[in-house]
Amino acid sequence: MYKGIAASPGIVIGPAYVISKKVSQVNRIDIPQAKIDAEVARMQSAVEITKADICAIKERIVHDIGSAEAEIFNAYLMLLSDPTFVGKAEEIIRKELVNTEYALQMVLKNYAEFSNRISDSYLKERSRDINSLVDKIIHNLEESGGKDANAPADKYIIIAQDLSPADTADMNKDNVMGFVTEMGGATSHTAIVARSLELPAVVGVRDITNTAKTGDMVILDGEKGIVVVNPNPKILAAYKEERKKFILKLRMLKRLKSLDTLTVDRHKIELTANIEFPEEIAVVQENNAEGVGLFRTEFIYINKSNLPSEEEQFESYKMVVQKMNPKPVTLRTLDIGGDKFLPYFKIAPEQNPFLGLRAIRLTMANINMFKLQLRAILRASAFGKVKIMFPMITVPEELDEAKKILEEVKADLKRKEVKFDPNIKVGCMIEVPAAAIMADELARRVDFFSIGTNDLIQYTVAADRGNESVSYLYDPLNPAVLKLIKMIADSAHRANIKVSVCGEMAGAPHLAFLLIGLGIDELSVSPSSILSVKKLIRSILFKDALETADAALKEERGSLIKDMILTKLNQLLYVKEKGDKK
Ligand code: PEP
Ligand code: MG
Repeated sequence: MYKGIAASPGIVIGPAYVISKKVSQVNRIDIPQAKIDAEVARMQSAVEITKADICAIKERIVHDIGSAEAEIFNAYLMLLSDPTFVGKAEEIIRKELVNTEYALQMVLKNYAEFSNRISDSYLKERSRDINSLVDKIIHNLEESGGKDANAPADKYIIIAQDLSPADTADMNKDNVMGFVTEMGGATSHTAIVARSLELPAVVGVRDITNTAKTGDMVILDGEKGIVVVNPNPKILAAYKEERKKFILKLRMLKRLKSLDTLTVDRHKIELTANIEFPEEIAVVQENNAEGVGLFRTEFIYINKSNLPSEEEQFESYKMVVQKMNPKPVTLRTLDIGGDKFLPYFKIAPEQNPFLGLRAIRLTMANINMFKLQLRAILRASAFGKVKIMFPMITVPEELDEAKKILEEVKADLKRKEVKFDPNIKVGCMIEVPAAAIMADELARRVDFFSIGTNDLIQYTVAADRGNESVSYLYDPLNPAVLKLIKMIADSAHRANIKVSVCGEMAGAPHLAFLLIGLGIDELSVSPSSILSVKKLIRSILFKDALETADAALKEERGSLIKDMILTKLNQLLYVKEKGDKK
Protein backbone atom coordinates (compact mmCIF):
# COMPACT_ATOMS: atom_id res chain seq x y z
CA MET A 1 0.00 0.00 0.00
CA TYR A 2 1.39 3.41 -0.99
CA LYS A 3 0.42 6.80 0.33
CA GLY A 4 0.68 9.69 -2.06
CA ILE A 5 -1.03 13.04 -2.61
CA ALA A 6 -4.72 12.88 -3.48
CA ALA A 7 -4.93 14.63 -6.84
CA SER A 8 -8.30 13.77 -8.37
CA PRO A 9 -11.17 11.97 -6.60
CA GLY A 10 -12.68 8.62 -7.48
CA ILE A 11 -11.88 4.99 -6.80
CA VAL A 12 -10.86 2.68 -9.63
CA ILE A 13 -9.63 -0.90 -9.65
CA GLY A 14 -7.81 -2.35 -12.64
CA PRO A 15 -4.55 -3.59 -14.16
CA ALA A 16 -1.45 -1.39 -14.07
CA TYR A 17 0.35 -0.09 -17.10
CA VAL A 18 3.76 0.97 -15.83
CA ILE A 19 5.62 3.54 -17.90
CA SER A 20 8.89 3.58 -16.03
CA LYS A 21 10.91 5.57 -18.50
CA LYS A 22 10.60 8.74 -20.46
CA VAL A 23 9.76 8.37 -24.15
CA SER A 24 13.32 9.12 -25.12
CA GLN A 25 14.79 6.44 -22.83
CA VAL A 26 14.19 3.57 -25.18
CA ASN A 27 15.24 -0.05 -25.40
CA ARG A 28 17.70 -1.52 -27.85
CA ILE A 29 15.97 -4.00 -30.14
CA ASP A 30 18.00 -6.12 -32.56
CA ILE A 31 16.68 -5.98 -36.10
CA PRO A 32 17.41 -8.86 -38.50
CA GLN A 33 19.52 -7.89 -41.54
CA ALA A 34 16.60 -8.66 -43.88
CA LYS A 35 14.48 -6.01 -42.20
CA ILE A 36 17.08 -3.26 -42.01
CA ASP A 37 15.92 -1.39 -45.12
CA ALA A 38 12.41 -1.35 -43.75
CA GLU A 39 13.72 -0.01 -40.42
CA VAL A 40 15.59 2.81 -42.20
CA ALA A 41 12.44 3.58 -44.20
CA ARG A 42 10.50 3.68 -40.93
CA MET A 43 12.93 6.26 -39.58
CA GLN A 44 12.87 8.32 -42.77
CA SER A 45 9.11 8.39 -42.81
CA ALA A 46 9.03 9.63 -39.19
CA VAL A 47 11.62 12.29 -40.06
CA GLU A 48 9.52 13.44 -43.02
CA ILE A 49 6.39 13.66 -40.83
CA THR A 50 8.41 15.64 -38.28
CA LYS A 51 9.66 18.00 -41.00
CA ALA A 52 6.12 18.57 -42.25
CA ASP A 53 4.92 19.21 -38.67
CA ILE A 54 7.70 21.72 -38.10
CA CYS A 55 7.05 23.51 -41.41
CA ALA A 56 3.37 23.86 -40.54
CA ILE A 57 4.19 25.23 -37.09
CA LYS A 58 6.74 27.62 -38.57
CA GLU A 59 4.32 28.99 -41.13
CA ARG A 60 1.68 29.52 -38.51
CA ILE A 61 4.09 31.35 -36.19
CA VAL A 62 5.41 33.55 -39.03
CA HIS A 63 1.82 34.43 -39.90
CA ASP A 64 0.54 34.97 -36.38
CA ILE A 65 3.54 36.31 -34.49
CA GLY A 66 6.45 37.17 -36.70
CA SER A 67 9.43 35.71 -38.51
CA ALA A 68 11.92 36.37 -35.71
CA GLU A 69 9.95 34.08 -33.38
CA ALA A 70 9.97 31.35 -36.05
CA GLU A 71 13.76 31.34 -36.37
CA ILE A 72 14.20 28.31 -34.15
CA PHE A 73 12.16 26.20 -36.56
CA ASN A 74 14.64 26.92 -39.34
CA ALA A 75 17.32 25.54 -37.07
CA TYR A 76 15.20 22.41 -36.48
CA LEU A 77 14.67 21.94 -40.20
CA MET A 78 18.38 22.30 -40.87
CA LEU A 79 19.16 19.73 -38.21
CA LEU A 80 16.69 17.30 -39.73
CA SER A 81 18.59 17.50 -43.01
CA ASP A 82 22.01 17.45 -41.36
CA PRO A 83 24.02 14.30 -42.21
CA THR A 84 25.63 14.30 -38.77
CA PHE A 85 22.23 13.84 -37.19
CA VAL A 86 19.73 11.76 -39.19
CA GLY A 87 22.51 10.37 -41.43
CA LYS A 88 24.41 9.26 -38.35
CA ALA A 89 21.33 7.50 -37.00
CA GLU A 90 20.93 5.62 -40.29
CA GLU A 91 24.56 4.56 -40.11
CA ILE A 92 24.02 3.15 -36.60
CA ILE A 93 20.88 1.27 -37.67
CA ARG A 94 22.73 -0.33 -40.58
CA LYS A 95 25.99 -1.08 -38.77
CA GLU A 96 24.64 -2.28 -35.46
CA LEU A 97 21.37 -3.78 -36.76
CA VAL A 98 19.28 -1.93 -34.20
CA ASN A 99 15.94 -0.13 -34.00
CA THR A 100 15.53 3.55 -34.92
CA GLU A 101 14.71 4.66 -31.38
CA TYR A 102 17.96 3.23 -30.07
CA ALA A 103 20.01 4.68 -32.94
CA LEU A 104 18.57 8.16 -32.34
CA GLN A 105 19.31 7.75 -28.68
CA MET A 106 22.95 6.96 -29.48
CA VAL A 107 23.28 10.07 -31.67
CA LEU A 108 21.80 12.12 -28.89
CA LYS A 109 24.19 10.64 -26.34
CA ASN A 110 27.23 11.34 -28.51
CA TYR A 111 26.08 14.88 -29.07
CA ALA A 112 25.46 15.46 -25.37
CA GLU A 113 28.89 14.06 -24.45
CA PHE A 114 30.52 16.27 -27.05
CA SER A 115 28.72 19.41 -25.95
CA ASN A 116 29.47 18.68 -22.28
CA ARG A 117 33.18 18.70 -23.04
CA ILE A 118 33.03 22.19 -24.48
CA SER A 119 31.67 25.30 -22.90
CA ASP A 120 30.10 26.77 -26.04
CA SER A 121 26.59 27.80 -25.04
CA TYR A 122 25.41 27.77 -28.67
CA LEU A 123 26.30 24.09 -28.97
CA LYS A 124 24.77 23.31 -25.62
CA GLU A 125 21.57 24.90 -26.80
CA ARG A 126 21.73 22.81 -30.02
CA SER A 127 22.03 19.69 -27.90
CA ARG A 128 18.74 20.59 -26.21
CA ASP A 129 17.18 21.13 -29.63
CA ILE A 130 18.34 17.71 -30.78
CA ASN A 131 16.84 16.22 -27.65
CA SER A 132 13.50 17.78 -28.43
CA LEU A 133 13.74 16.69 -32.07
CA VAL A 134 14.47 13.09 -31.09
CA ASP A 135 11.37 13.14 -28.89
CA LYS A 136 9.31 14.44 -31.81
CA ILE A 137 10.63 11.82 -34.22
CA ILE A 138 10.07 9.03 -31.72
CA HIS A 139 6.57 10.32 -31.15
CA ASN A 140 5.92 10.14 -34.89
CA LEU A 141 7.39 6.64 -35.00
CA GLU A 142 5.05 5.59 -32.29
CA GLU A 143 2.03 7.01 -34.01
CA SER A 144 2.79 4.72 -36.91
CA GLY A 145 2.63 1.64 -34.76
CA GLY A 146 4.14 0.95 -31.41
CA LYS A 147 2.51 3.43 -29.00
CA ASP A 148 1.20 1.74 -25.88
CA ALA A 149 2.20 -1.58 -27.40
CA ASN A 150 2.86 -2.92 -23.91
CA ALA A 151 -0.37 -1.66 -22.40
CA PRO A 152 -2.86 -4.24 -21.14
CA ALA A 153 -5.47 -4.91 -23.78
CA ASP A 154 -8.46 -3.28 -22.21
CA LYS A 155 -8.66 -0.59 -19.56
CA TYR A 156 -5.72 0.21 -17.33
CA ILE A 157 -4.31 2.49 -14.64
CA ILE A 158 -1.19 4.34 -15.74
CA ILE A 159 1.75 4.36 -13.34
CA ALA A 160 4.50 6.76 -14.42
CA GLN A 161 7.39 8.77 -13.04
CA ASP A 162 5.93 12.02 -14.27
CA LEU A 163 3.28 13.21 -16.69
CA SER A 164 3.06 16.67 -18.14
CA PRO A 165 -0.28 18.52 -18.29
CA ALA A 166 -0.20 17.90 -22.07
CA ASP A 167 0.36 14.13 -21.59
CA THR A 168 -2.65 14.05 -19.30
CA ALA A 169 -4.78 16.11 -21.65
CA ASP A 170 -3.99 13.58 -24.39
CA MET A 171 -5.10 10.53 -22.41
CA ASN A 172 -7.76 8.41 -23.96
CA LYS A 173 -10.47 8.02 -21.38
CA ASP A 174 -11.75 4.87 -23.10
CA ASN A 175 -8.62 3.06 -21.94
CA VAL A 176 -7.20 5.02 -19.05
CA MET A 177 -9.08 4.53 -15.76
CA GLY A 178 -6.80 6.77 -13.73
CA PHE A 179 -3.13 7.42 -13.08
CA VAL A 180 -0.44 7.40 -10.44
CA THR A 181 2.79 9.43 -10.69
CA GLU A 182 5.92 9.58 -8.59
CA MET A 183 6.22 13.33 -9.01
CA GLY A 184 3.75 16.18 -8.64
CA GLY A 185 1.54 18.01 -6.18
CA ALA A 186 -2.21 18.37 -5.73
CA THR A 187 -2.32 21.73 -7.49
CA SER A 188 0.12 20.91 -10.30
CA HIS A 189 -1.53 21.42 -13.67
CA THR A 190 -1.32 17.67 -14.30
CA ALA A 191 -3.57 17.15 -11.27
CA ILE A 192 -5.88 19.96 -12.37
CA VAL A 193 -6.29 18.41 -15.83
CA ALA A 194 -7.01 15.02 -14.23
CA ARG A 195 -9.84 16.59 -12.24
CA SER A 196 -11.24 18.30 -15.29
CA LEU A 197 -11.24 15.00 -17.20
CA GLU A 198 -12.71 13.31 -14.10
CA LEU A 199 -9.82 10.85 -14.08
CA PRO A 200 -8.99 9.63 -10.55
CA ALA A 201 -5.33 10.29 -9.76
CA VAL A 202 -2.74 10.03 -7.00
CA VAL A 203 0.58 11.88 -7.38
CA GLY A 204 3.82 12.04 -5.40
CA VAL A 205 4.03 8.26 -4.85
CA ARG A 206 7.74 7.60 -4.42
CA ASP A 207 9.41 4.67 -6.20
CA ILE A 208 6.21 3.03 -7.37
CA THR A 209 7.53 2.54 -10.93
CA ASN A 210 10.36 0.42 -9.53
CA THR A 211 8.11 -2.00 -7.71
CA ALA A 212 4.77 -2.16 -9.56
CA LYS A 213 4.70 -4.12 -12.81
CA THR A 214 2.47 -3.89 -15.85
CA GLY A 215 -0.48 -6.21 -15.34
CA ASP A 216 -0.45 -5.98 -11.50
CA MET A 217 -3.89 -5.41 -10.01
CA VAL A 218 -4.15 -1.86 -8.63
CA ILE A 219 -6.60 -0.02 -6.42
CA LEU A 220 -6.40 3.76 -6.85
CA ASP A 221 -8.18 5.88 -4.26
CA GLY A 222 -7.96 9.42 -5.58
CA GLU A 223 -9.75 10.91 -2.61
CA LYS A 224 -7.48 9.60 0.16
CA GLY A 225 -4.34 9.47 -2.00
CA ILE A 226 -3.91 5.71 -1.53
CA VAL A 227 -2.64 3.17 -4.06
CA VAL A 228 -2.70 -0.57 -3.35
CA VAL A 229 -0.78 -2.92 -5.63
CA ASN A 230 -1.91 -6.57 -5.73
CA PRO A 231 -4.37 -6.20 -2.83
CA ASN A 232 -5.40 -9.22 -0.77
CA PRO A 233 -9.04 -10.36 -1.19
CA LYS A 234 -10.11 -8.61 2.04
CA ILE A 235 -8.81 -5.18 0.95
CA LEU A 236 -10.19 -5.67 -2.54
CA ALA A 237 -13.66 -6.44 -1.17
CA ALA A 238 -13.48 -3.39 1.16
CA TYR A 239 -12.54 -1.11 -1.74
CA LYS A 240 -15.32 -2.44 -3.93
CA GLU A 241 -17.67 -1.34 -1.14
CA GLU A 242 -15.94 2.07 -0.92
CA ARG A 243 -16.38 2.51 -4.65
CA LYS A 244 -20.11 1.85 -4.36
CA LYS A 245 -20.36 4.41 -1.55
CA PHE A 246 -18.49 6.99 -3.61
CA ILE A 247 -20.86 6.55 -6.55
CA LEU A 248 -23.86 6.76 -4.21
CA LYS A 249 -22.48 9.99 -2.69
CA LEU A 250 -22.25 11.53 -6.16
CA ARG A 251 -25.82 10.51 -6.89
CA MET A 252 -27.05 12.10 -3.65
CA LEU A 253 -25.27 15.36 -4.49
CA LYS A 254 -27.14 15.61 -7.79
CA ARG A 255 -30.27 16.46 -5.80
CA LEU A 256 -28.74 19.87 -5.02
CA LYS A 257 -28.41 20.84 -8.64
CA SER A 258 -31.25 23.29 -8.96
CA LEU A 259 -31.09 24.73 -5.43
CA ASP A 260 -29.80 28.22 -4.58
CA THR A 261 -26.26 28.84 -3.41
CA LEU A 262 -27.22 30.55 -0.16
CA THR A 263 -26.04 29.98 3.37
CA VAL A 264 -28.67 29.12 5.98
CA ASP A 265 -28.80 32.82 6.96
CA ARG A 266 -29.24 33.65 3.25
CA HIS A 267 -25.86 35.08 2.39
CA LYS A 268 -25.23 34.67 -1.34
CA ILE A 269 -22.04 33.07 -2.62
CA GLU A 270 -21.48 32.91 -6.38
CA LEU A 271 -20.50 29.38 -7.32
CA THR A 272 -18.80 29.13 -10.70
CA ALA A 273 -16.64 26.61 -12.53
CA ASN A 274 -13.03 26.35 -13.68
CA ILE A 275 -12.56 24.81 -17.09
CA GLU A 276 -9.57 23.85 -19.20
CA PHE A 277 -11.33 22.47 -22.29
CA PRO A 278 -14.43 23.83 -24.06
CA GLU A 279 -15.97 20.32 -23.93
CA GLU A 280 -16.22 20.60 -20.15
CA ILE A 281 -19.15 22.96 -20.55
CA ALA A 282 -21.49 19.93 -20.61
CA VAL A 283 -20.55 19.01 -16.99
CA VAL A 284 -20.62 22.68 -15.96
CA GLN A 285 -24.19 22.93 -17.21
CA GLU A 286 -25.17 19.57 -15.81
CA ASN A 287 -24.08 20.78 -12.36
CA ASN A 288 -25.73 24.13 -12.91
CA ALA A 289 -22.76 26.39 -12.16
CA GLU A 290 -23.48 30.11 -12.12
CA GLY A 291 -20.87 30.85 -14.73
CA VAL A 292 -17.31 30.03 -15.67
CA GLY A 293 -15.07 31.75 -13.12
CA LEU A 294 -11.86 30.69 -14.85
CA PHE A 295 -11.27 29.40 -18.36
CA ARG A 296 -7.60 28.35 -18.53
CA THR A 297 -7.36 29.20 -22.21
CA GLU A 298 -3.80 27.91 -22.55
CA PHE A 299 -5.20 24.38 -22.71
CA ILE A 300 -6.65 25.21 -26.11
CA TYR A 301 -3.03 25.77 -27.11
CA ILE A 302 -1.39 22.96 -25.16
CA ASN A 303 -2.56 19.82 -26.88
CA LYS A 304 -2.26 21.16 -30.39
CA SER A 305 0.70 20.75 -32.68
CA ASN A 306 0.71 24.42 -33.56
CA LEU A 307 -0.56 27.76 -32.37
CA PRO A 308 -4.35 28.05 -32.81
CA SER A 309 -5.29 30.84 -35.18
CA GLU A 310 -7.46 33.79 -34.11
CA GLU A 311 -10.39 32.09 -35.83
CA GLU A 312 -9.89 28.78 -34.00
CA GLN A 313 -9.60 30.56 -30.66
CA PHE A 314 -12.63 32.71 -31.39
CA GLU A 315 -14.71 29.62 -32.27
CA SER A 316 -13.74 27.84 -29.02
CA TYR A 317 -14.48 30.89 -26.87
CA LYS A 318 -17.72 31.65 -28.72
CA MET A 319 -18.96 28.10 -28.23
CA VAL A 320 -18.43 28.32 -24.47
CA VAL A 321 -19.85 31.85 -24.22
CA GLN A 322 -22.98 31.00 -26.21
CA LYS A 323 -23.64 27.84 -24.26
CA MET A 324 -23.30 29.67 -20.93
CA ASN A 325 -25.22 32.79 -21.99
CA PRO A 326 -26.56 34.73 -20.04
CA LYS A 327 -24.22 33.42 -17.35
CA PRO A 328 -20.73 34.99 -17.36
CA VAL A 329 -17.57 33.39 -18.69
CA THR A 330 -14.22 34.64 -17.39
CA LEU A 331 -11.55 34.13 -20.01
CA ARG A 332 -8.04 34.27 -18.65
CA THR A 333 -5.35 35.25 -21.09
CA LEU A 334 -2.59 32.74 -21.80
CA ASP A 335 -0.76 31.40 -18.77
CA ILE A 336 2.14 29.54 -20.35
CA GLY A 337 5.41 28.87 -18.54
CA GLY A 338 5.87 27.36 -15.06
CA ASP A 339 4.78 23.76 -15.65
CA LYS A 340 2.92 24.42 -18.91
CA PHE A 341 4.85 24.49 -22.15
CA LEU A 342 3.90 24.54 -25.78
CA PRO A 343 5.97 22.21 -27.95
CA TYR A 344 5.87 24.74 -30.80
CA PHE A 345 6.56 27.88 -28.79
CA LYS A 346 10.05 27.89 -27.50
CA ILE A 347 11.03 29.67 -24.30
CA ALA A 348 14.75 29.88 -23.56
CA PRO A 349 15.61 27.33 -20.85
CA GLU A 350 15.18 28.82 -17.38
CA GLN A 351 16.59 27.87 -13.99
CA ASN A 352 13.27 28.56 -12.28
CA PRO A 353 10.39 28.45 -14.76
CA PHE A 354 7.80 29.33 -12.12
CA LEU A 355 9.75 32.52 -11.41
CA GLY A 356 10.47 33.20 -15.05
CA LEU A 357 8.82 34.25 -18.25
CA ARG A 358 5.34 33.02 -17.42
CA ALA A 359 1.75 34.19 -18.00
CA ILE A 360 1.36 37.96 -18.48
CA ARG A 361 5.16 38.33 -18.64
CA LEU A 362 5.32 35.96 -21.59
CA THR A 363 2.38 37.47 -23.44
CA MET A 364 3.68 41.02 -22.94
CA ALA A 365 6.96 39.85 -24.45
CA ASN A 366 5.03 38.50 -27.46
CA ILE A 367 2.62 41.31 -28.14
CA ASN A 368 1.35 39.95 -31.45
CA MET A 369 0.35 36.66 -29.86
CA PHE A 370 -1.27 38.58 -26.98
CA LYS A 371 -3.22 40.86 -29.32
CA LEU A 372 -4.35 37.91 -31.39
CA GLN A 373 -5.85 36.31 -28.29
CA LEU A 374 -7.41 39.57 -27.10
CA ARG A 375 -9.08 39.98 -30.50
CA ALA A 376 -10.50 36.47 -30.32
CA ILE A 377 -11.78 37.09 -26.77
CA LEU A 378 -13.31 40.47 -27.64
CA ARG A 379 -15.04 39.04 -30.70
CA ALA A 380 -16.51 36.26 -28.54
CA SER A 381 -17.85 38.92 -26.15
CA ALA A 382 -20.46 39.85 -28.77
CA PHE A 383 -22.13 36.48 -28.11
CA GLY A 384 -22.76 36.55 -24.38
CA LYS A 385 -21.32 37.80 -21.12
CA VAL A 386 -17.54 37.73 -21.18
CA LYS A 387 -15.08 38.91 -18.58
CA ILE A 388 -11.39 39.10 -19.24
CA MET A 389 -8.69 38.36 -16.71
CA PHE A 390 -4.91 38.78 -16.66
CA PRO A 391 -2.82 36.14 -14.87
CA MET A 392 0.18 36.62 -12.59
CA ILE A 393 0.06 40.38 -12.33
CA THR A 394 2.92 41.39 -10.05
CA VAL A 395 3.14 45.20 -10.27
CA PRO A 396 0.53 47.85 -11.13
CA GLU A 397 2.50 48.93 -14.22
CA GLU A 398 1.92 45.51 -15.78
CA LEU A 399 -1.78 45.90 -15.35
CA ASP A 400 -1.71 49.40 -16.85
CA GLU A 401 0.23 48.08 -19.82
CA ALA A 402 -2.08 45.09 -20.35
CA LYS A 403 -5.12 47.37 -20.18
CA LYS A 404 -3.51 49.75 -22.65
CA ILE A 405 -2.95 46.92 -25.11
CA LEU A 406 -6.53 45.79 -24.63
CA GLU A 407 -7.72 49.33 -25.44
CA GLU A 408 -5.62 49.35 -28.60
CA VAL A 409 -7.18 46.07 -29.74
CA LYS A 410 -10.64 47.42 -28.92
CA ALA A 411 -9.97 50.60 -30.94
CA ASP A 412 -8.77 48.52 -33.86
CA LEU A 413 -11.87 46.32 -33.82
CA LYS A 414 -14.06 49.38 -33.56
CA ARG A 415 -12.38 50.93 -36.60
CA LYS A 416 -12.99 47.74 -38.52
CA GLU A 417 -16.59 47.66 -37.28
CA VAL A 418 -16.16 44.27 -35.67
CA LYS A 419 -18.71 43.64 -32.90
CA PHE A 420 -17.65 43.22 -29.28
CA ASP A 421 -18.84 44.22 -25.81
CA PRO A 422 -17.36 47.72 -25.29
CA ASN A 423 -18.02 47.47 -21.54
CA ILE A 424 -16.33 44.14 -21.07
CA LYS A 425 -15.30 43.71 -17.43
CA VAL A 426 -11.57 43.45 -16.81
CA GLY A 427 -10.07 41.72 -13.81
CA CYS A 428 -6.76 40.48 -12.59
CA MET A 429 -5.58 37.42 -10.79
CA ILE A 430 -3.91 37.94 -7.47
CA GLU A 431 -1.44 35.12 -7.12
CA VAL A 432 1.85 36.82 -6.28
CA PRO A 433 2.45 38.15 -2.74
CA ALA A 434 3.59 41.52 -4.13
CA ALA A 435 0.20 41.92 -5.80
CA ALA A 436 -1.59 40.90 -2.61
CA ILE A 437 0.30 43.55 -0.67
CA MET A 438 -0.49 46.16 -3.33
CA ALA A 439 -4.12 45.05 -3.63
CA ASP A 440 -5.49 48.54 -2.88
CA GLU A 441 -3.56 50.00 -5.80
CA LEU A 442 -4.56 47.15 -8.12
CA ALA A 443 -8.21 47.23 -7.07
CA ARG A 444 -8.55 50.80 -8.37
CA ARG A 445 -7.60 49.57 -11.82
CA VAL A 446 -9.97 46.61 -12.33
CA ASP A 447 -13.58 45.48 -12.14
CA PHE A 448 -12.87 42.32 -10.15
CA PHE A 449 -10.18 40.25 -8.45
CA SER A 450 -9.71 36.53 -8.66
CA ILE A 451 -7.29 34.99 -6.20
CA GLY A 452 -5.16 32.20 -7.63
CA THR A 453 -4.37 30.41 -4.41
CA ASN A 454 -2.50 27.60 -6.20
CA ASP A 455 0.23 30.07 -7.04
CA LEU A 456 -0.27 32.45 -4.13
CA ILE A 457 0.53 29.57 -1.75
CA GLN A 458 3.63 28.45 -3.64
CA TYR A 459 5.01 31.97 -3.95
CA THR A 460 4.25 32.79 -0.31
CA VAL A 461 5.88 29.73 1.23
CA ALA A 462 8.53 29.37 -1.53
CA ALA A 463 7.57 25.74 -2.22
CA ASP A 464 7.00 24.59 -5.78
CA ARG A 465 3.38 23.45 -6.16
CA GLY A 466 4.49 20.41 -8.19
CA ASN A 467 7.28 19.21 -5.91
CA GLU A 468 6.17 16.42 -3.59
CA SER A 469 9.32 16.80 -1.44
CA VAL A 470 8.22 20.20 -0.16
CA SER A 471 4.50 19.50 -0.15
CA TYR A 472 4.55 19.60 3.67
CA LEU A 473 5.09 23.37 3.38
CA TYR A 474 2.50 23.83 0.67
CA ASP A 475 -0.40 24.39 3.04
CA PRO A 476 -3.47 26.43 2.06
CA LEU A 477 -4.03 27.02 5.78
CA ASN A 478 -0.62 28.54 6.35
CA PRO A 479 -1.49 31.65 8.43
CA ALA A 480 0.57 33.90 6.13
CA VAL A 481 -1.56 32.78 3.18
CA LEU A 482 -4.79 33.39 5.11
CA LYS A 483 -3.65 36.88 6.13
CA LEU A 484 -2.91 37.69 2.48
CA ILE A 485 -6.33 36.42 1.37
CA LYS A 486 -7.99 38.57 4.02
CA MET A 487 -5.99 41.62 2.89
CA ILE A 488 -6.97 41.06 -0.73
CA ALA A 489 -10.66 40.63 0.11
CA ASP A 490 -10.66 43.79 2.26
CA SER A 491 -8.94 45.81 -0.48
CA ALA A 492 -11.45 44.59 -3.07
CA HIS A 493 -14.40 45.56 -0.89
CA ARG A 494 -12.92 48.98 -0.08
CA ALA A 495 -12.79 49.59 -3.83
CA ASN A 496 -16.31 48.20 -4.25
CA ILE A 497 -15.32 45.30 -6.42
CA LYS A 498 -15.99 41.57 -6.01
CA VAL A 499 -13.35 39.02 -5.21
CA SER A 500 -13.34 35.37 -6.10
CA VAL A 501 -11.01 32.47 -5.41
CA CYS A 502 -10.33 30.21 -8.38
CA GLY A 503 -7.48 28.16 -6.91
CA GLU A 504 -8.10 24.52 -5.99
CA MET A 505 -8.59 25.56 -2.37
CA ALA A 506 -12.07 26.84 -3.25
CA GLY A 507 -13.20 23.33 -4.19
CA ALA A 508 -12.43 21.71 -0.82
CA PRO A 509 -15.56 22.24 1.32
CA HIS A 510 -13.77 22.83 4.65
CA LEU A 511 -11.47 25.40 3.02
CA ALA A 512 -14.39 27.00 1.19
CA PHE A 513 -15.98 27.54 4.61
CA LEU A 514 -12.95 29.53 5.72
CA LEU A 515 -12.76 31.48 2.44
CA ILE A 516 -16.38 32.55 2.87
CA GLY A 517 -15.50 33.76 6.36
CA LEU A 518 -12.54 35.70 4.97
CA GLY A 519 -14.96 37.66 2.77
CA ILE A 520 -14.73 35.85 -0.58
CA ASP A 521 -17.77 36.58 -2.78
CA GLU A 522 -17.33 33.89 -5.39
CA LEU A 523 -15.84 30.42 -5.44
CA SER A 524 -14.76 29.03 -8.78
CA VAL A 525 -14.15 25.30 -8.58
CA SER A 526 -13.61 22.32 -10.83
CA PRO A 527 -16.95 21.20 -12.33
CA SER A 528 -16.92 17.99 -10.31
CA SER A 529 -16.64 19.92 -7.00
CA ILE A 530 -19.57 22.28 -7.62
CA LEU A 531 -22.18 20.24 -5.82
CA SER A 532 -20.09 19.31 -2.79
CA VAL A 533 -19.22 23.00 -2.28
CA LYS A 534 -22.88 23.91 -2.75
CA LYS A 535 -23.80 21.38 -0.06
CA LEU A 536 -21.32 23.05 2.30
CA ILE A 537 -22.63 26.55 1.55
CA ARG A 538 -26.22 25.46 2.15
CA SER A 539 -25.28 23.88 5.47
CA ILE A 540 -23.57 26.80 7.21
CA LEU A 541 -24.37 30.16 8.73
CA PHE A 542 -22.37 33.05 7.27
CA LYS A 543 -21.96 34.42 10.77
CA ASP A 544 -20.23 31.19 11.85
CA ALA A 545 -17.87 31.37 8.86
CA LEU A 546 -16.96 34.95 9.84
CA GLU A 547 -16.30 33.96 13.46
CA THR A 548 -14.19 30.95 12.44
CA ALA A 549 -12.12 33.04 10.02
CA ASP A 550 -11.55 35.65 12.72
CA ALA A 551 -10.32 32.99 15.12
CA ALA A 552 -8.17 31.36 12.39
CA LEU A 553 -6.41 34.66 11.72
CA LYS A 554 -5.23 34.67 15.33
CA GLU A 555 -3.64 31.19 15.12
CA GLU A 556 0.03 30.53 14.38
CA ARG A 557 -0.15 27.06 12.91
CA GLY A 558 -1.94 25.66 9.89
CA SER A 559 -2.53 22.30 11.56
CA LEU A 560 -4.36 23.98 14.46
CA ILE A 561 -6.46 26.01 12.03
CA LYS A 562 -7.46 22.82 10.26
CA ASP A 563 -8.53 21.19 13.54
CA MET A 564 -10.46 24.32 14.42
CA ILE A 565 -12.35 24.34 11.11
CA LEU A 566 -13.17 20.66 11.22
CA THR A 567 -14.41 20.86 14.83
CA LYS A 568 -16.55 23.87 13.97
CA LEU A 569 -17.99 22.21 10.87
CA ASN A 570 -18.86 19.09 12.83
CA GLN A 571 -20.92 21.25 15.20
CA LEU A 572 -22.48 23.26 12.41
CA LEU A 573 -23.61 20.70 9.88
CA TYR A 574 -26.96 20.46 11.55
CA VAL A 575 -28.96 21.54 8.55
CA LYS A 576 -29.71 18.40 6.62
CA GLU A 577 -30.59 18.59 2.94
CA LYS A 578 -34.06 17.13 3.50
CA GLY A 579 -35.88 17.46 0.18
CA ASP A 580 -34.67 21.05 0.52
CA LYS A 581 -37.10 23.88 0.42
CA LYS A 582 -35.65 27.03 -1.18
C1 PEP B 1 -4.03 29.58 -9.34
O1 PEP B 1 -2.81 29.83 -9.39
O2 PEP B 1 -4.63 29.37 -8.27
C2 PEP B 1 -4.82 29.48 -10.57
C3 PEP B 1 -6.13 29.38 -10.52
O3 PEP B 1 -4.14 29.46 -11.75
P1 PEP B 1 -3.35 28.17 -12.26
O4 PEP B 1 -3.70 27.01 -11.38
O5 PEP B 1 -3.74 27.91 -13.66
O6 PEP B 1 -1.92 28.59 -12.11
MG1 MG C 1 -2.01 30.52 -11.23
